[in-house]
Amino acid sequence: MVVFGNVSAANLPYQNGFLEAISSGGSELMGHSFRIPTSSQALKTRTRRKIAGPLQVVCLDIPRPELENTVNFLEAASLSASFRSAPRPAKPLNVVIAGAGLAGLSTAKYLADAGHKPLLLEARDVLGGKIAAWKDEDGDWYETGLHIFFGAYPNVQNLFGELGINDRLQWKEHSMIFAMPSKPGEFSRFDFPDVLPAPLNGIWAILRNNEMLTWPEKIKFAIGLLPAMVGGQAYVEAQDGLSVKEWMQKQGVPERVTDEVFIAMSKALNFINPDELSMQCILIALNRFLQEKHGSKMAFLDGNPPERLCMPIVDHIRSLGGEVRLNSRIRKIELEDDGTVKNFLLTDGSTIEGDAYVFAAPVDILKLLLPDSWKEIPYFRKLEKLVGVPVINVHIWFDRKLQNTYDHLLFSRSNLLSVYADMSLTCKEYYDPNRSMLELVFAPAEEWISRSDSDIIDATMKELERLFPDEIAADQSKAKILKYHVVKTPRSVYKTIPNCEPCRPLQRSPIKGFYLAGDYTKQKYLASMEGAVLSGKFCSQSIVQDYELLAASGPRKLSEASVST
Ligand SMILES: Cc1cc2nc3c(=O)[nH]c(=O)nc-3n(C[C@H](O)[C@H](O)[C@H](O)COP(=O)(O)OP(=O)(O)OC[C@H]3O[C@@H](n4cnc5c(N)ncnc54)[C@H](O)[C@@H]3O)c2cc1C
Repeated sequence: MVVFGNVSAANLPYQNGFLEAISSGGSELMGHSFRIPTSSQALKTRTRRKIAGPLQVVCLDIPRPELENTVNFLEAASLSASFRSAPRPAKPLNVVIAGAGLAGLSTAKYLADAGHKPLLLEARDVLGGKIAAWKDEDGDWYETGLHIFFGAYPNVQNLFGELGINDRLQWKEHSMIFAMPSKPGEFSRFDFPDVLPAPLNGIWAILRNNEMLTWPEKIKFAIGLLPAMVGGQAYVEAQDGLSVKEWMQKQGVPERVTDEVFIAMSKALNFINPDELSMQCILIALNRFLQEKHGSKMAFLDGNPPERLCMPIVDHIRSLGGEVRLNSRIRKIELEDDGTVKNFLLTDGSTIEGDAYVFAAPVDILKLLLPDSWKEIPYFRKLEKLVGVPVINVHIWFDRKLQNTYDHLLFSRSNLLSVYADMSLTCKEYYDPNRSMLELVFAPAEEWISRSDSDIIDATMKELERLFPDEIAADQSKAKILKYHVVKTPRSVYKTIPNCEPCRPLQRSPIKGFYLAGDYTKQKYLASMEGAVLSGKFCSQSIVQDYELLAASGPRKLSEASVST
């Protein structure tokens, strides 16, 4: 195995690619990254297969879009501000939170902002849950999932601003780029022009692309969408009973539209196919993307999520007197005689008591740990329908820089893969001028989750052969694999099949002093990073609203959170 260390943002400008880009002309320096302004000629280029010579572009970062004036951003900002400006509690509540994914971190952050004392307990030795990542012996990072931050993530974008880390998002061109299965190695783009407002920029992008959909198909799809445009939110919610495939059939949308566009979208949104995914999920995403000018604009984090995103949240929590502990797995929720929570029992035998309790671990874990006497309460019984979907995240380091790729997220439109990116291009910390690292989401993964890593890599290579016909062969007679990491998540985000929406729980449970946070809980975004952060805010808001109740007659008397072994 060849060892090639990672390159930090600080030394990025001194790499070869930087010099090549400068010498190619037309580039402009933006801090540690730089861009070559997109020419109309470049936009027309549908494939990079035939581009010879060394890669010209190292990091095509686009300036951060103006998000601050959207209604959703302002609403999210005002919710954040409400915690900071809340009256300081006479005696801060000690709130015990299980799970340091984004939902638990967000809950702890906003409770701390409101003057309370969160104690965040994470089962594993790594922060982030589904955005967790690990460093291998060569110093290279591998992640639970390839993560994209959208312009239409107002609470996430506010969070970055509040932490002072806006510059850690690497924004990409406003485009969606799809591989063309019928033309191996070629791509088709939807380019959103910057000069047009929403939804015209999206409509323009769709109308301009004639490679994936024909005009009659586009018109039939637009007619099918009319009820959603007219009916608004009520219509969107009513479509939860139908799968994407059923909805398309009902609306008379040609099957090819589903095959060409919505298989890729369904797999990207929920790691399943359109015959399983609830149509509400697609409509929510389309709504967000079409209503905001920068809604579908994508950004990559500039490095590994635990250090680049989770640690600043932890530092913030600690600076306000909160606490975060790793290796603290909750084994049991122990109850008082009246059915309220007595304490969280940890696997090391210790118990943790607080004035309020938040469960921010995945729904599948919650169901395993639910006390028997709660199981028949409808609020908890409904959780049965929410089940995590399996997904696999694959990383392959190659012995060369692959040419047939973009500095962007790519929709593979292959049977086994969903989206992928060459992280050696898209992400500063993973930047490498000489070798590509492809990070690929392998989905649907139901049939693959128990297969060996080498089986998964073999299958991935067969798919890559079609995406890189000149550069990759499944037998490695072309690009060679230097190493790989496969991260399996048997239960990831909840599977958004039809009729799940009514089963998503509010953050305030019917048990006094017990709250839920997590991407699966009720909030208007999908099971996503935005959903997780917003759920944490709603959870904190409920606790702040319940202050008098919790302080006066909480499940425990107001006391310091106590630990006993
Ligand atoms: C492959 C993949 C790709 C993705 N891509 C995107 C994307 O591009 N954009 C996007 O917005 N979202 C994406 N997501 C979804 C996103 O990662 C999640 O929606 C979000 O991170 C969930 O956060 P959470 O806090 O709700 O749950 P989690 O992240 O699951 O956090 C739960 C935490 O609880 C901890 N825990 C579990 N049991 C216990 C216990 N007994 N005691 C204490 N702690 C416990 C876990 O270790 C974990 O840290 C992706 C997910 C995956 C898997």
